[in-house]
Amino acid sequence: MSELTLPPALRDVEPVRSIRAPARLEYTFTASLAVTEFLEGVSEGRLLGSKCPECGNVYVPIRGVCPTDAVPMLERVQVPDTGVVTTFCVVNVQFYGQAMEIPYVCATVVLDGADMGLFGMVSGMPADEVRMGMRVRAKWADEPTKSLESIEYWEPTGDPDADYDSYKHHL
Ligand SMILES: [Zn+2]
Repeated sequence: MSELTLPPALRDVEPVRSIRAPARLEYTFTASLAVTEFLEGVSEGRLLGSKCPECGNVYVPIRGVCPTDAVPMLERVQVPDTGVVTTFCVVNVQFYGQAMEIPYVCATVVLDGADMGLFGMVSGMPADEVRMGMRVRAKWADEPTKSLESIEYWEPTGDPDADYDSYKHHL
């Protein structure tokens, strides 16, 4: 409706540009056999992956089938809870419903021996010092459960950064 067609009483009213409509969505996640196996490992403080017999890639979390070769991955590999930050972002914007205090850092961590990154928070250091190639270790919850929330965040190990060439193919 153009301004010319508005009734006279509405012509000087400030237009509505946004509304707030809180939404809540509850759902139940039914884990696959592969994810169940992975989360059972997490509850015991172990990180398990699956290794493809064709390409040799190690996927963490476990996947039932290699997404590249479409073959079952039956071999299991336990990887350490250390890895490298490949990509990250610093969140500086407060938004409705946000539980974290800004600034905080979300990152992809490729675990040692894995070929696929895990997404998580990086903490234990100033946000503006997080960098690609930084070596990190999982900060586990005191009582891990069958949830990736058992890794509260990734913290720096203090080891020298990884060479870019060692992780660039995971970007
Ligand atoms: Zn493969």
